[in-house]
Amino acid sequence: MIPFNKPYLSGNELNYIQESVQSGKISGDGLFTKKCNDFFENKYGFKKVLLTTSCTHALEMAAILINIKKGDEVIMPSYTFVSTANAFVLRGAKIVFADSSFENPNMDVTKIESLITSRTKAIVPVHYAGIACDMDSIMELAKKYKLWVVEDAAQAIESYYKGRLLGSIGHLAAFSFHETKNIVSGEGGMLVINDEQFSQRAEIIREKGTNRSQFFRGEINKYGWVDIGSSYLPSDIIAAFLFAQLEKIKDIQRKRLEIWNRYQKNLFPLVNYGIQLPFIEDYATCNAHMYYIVCKSLEQRNSLIKFLKENKILSVFHYLSLHKSEYFIESHDGRELENSDRYSDCLLRLPLFYELELNQVDLICSAILEWLKVAK
Ligand SMILES: *Cc1c(COP(=O)(O)O)cnc(C)c1O
Repeated sequence: MIPFNKPYLSGNELNYIQESVQSGKISGDGLFTKKCNDFFENKYGFKKVLLTTSCTHALEMAAILINIKKGDEVIMPSYTFVSTANAFVLRGAKIVFADSSFENPNMDVTKIESLITSRTKAIVPVHYAGIACDMDSIMELAKKYKLWVVEDAAQAIESYYKGRLLGSIGHLAAFSFHETKNIVSGEGGMLVINDEQFSQRAEIIREKGTNRSQFFRGEINKYGWVDIGSSYLPSDIIAAFLFAQLEKIKDIQRKRLEIWNRYQKNLFPLVNYGIQLPFIEDYATCNAHMYYIVCKSLEQRNSLIKFLKENKILSVFHYLSLHKSEYFIESHDGRELENSDRYSDCLLRLPLFYELELNQVDLICSAILEWLKVAK
């Protein structure tokens, strides 16, 4: 069986974990947390980052930082992971879901402005499959209506918008290192702070509402409870694992892109059958987080999943539109989000992981082209 995903291992994870353990400080903000921060801030170019226990938690921190209160409205795509919405729902926000665009699952930016009201507080673009949303349009709307922009960059490591790193454009951004992402630590995430006014408070929220981080830097002589917060910082053991991956980021990306490009080349004939392939605008890059195709119908997609499974290949569908979820359906305002629903029914993700061989990619593609012949 060709699995859908297999987490990458650099081989140094256990060495670094051992080093972290031997350093005598395995709680948060230890030796390897600093190495990871240094990587992201100095080598990579983010202004300020804080490792978190997950991307979900980084999003929750963002919702606290921009002071989301009961009744505030937050605009985001319906075609996303539950955490994008939950983080704001937990603060009492009303979520206003926007449709995806026809070309790819990113939010259709032409549909956002009509959703803005006097209660709108933030826009949360999700860079689906690591492919950039139209950030200039989104930042322009944010400026015009004085809104915050929180990038859900969970899938977007090492990807760019007009030459700018994703995660560096909104006021805040959240990344994931869950084992299904390009760079992993099992569970893990990161908050990126691009607007300096949030820097100090972010440290406090992450440290249970205390100013402990300032205390450890020697900036104050005692620490205490100064704000709301929770425990969002990962153990240094997690950071040690993550650092072993970060050192290999170029190699990981090279390999993943090779696989992604092979899929895109081999599967080109599908467009003649009305099946959509990933679409990347001129302003965006591809970070090979995911390879997906969009079938013509739910029946067609299910038939392909079954056919691939019979050929020992695991392929999986993705999100179910959040506006139609059991939790939210009663709260939705009834607008049809047709592209979101189409991706729910028709999008199919193919295996993509570091160890996948190009000849396996060829095999998967041949199986799909074979299915086209028999499945009509
Ligand atoms: C993976 C993912 C998340 C959640 O990340 P965790 O680190 O598992 O909390 C949130 N949003 C999107 C778009 C994701 O793909």
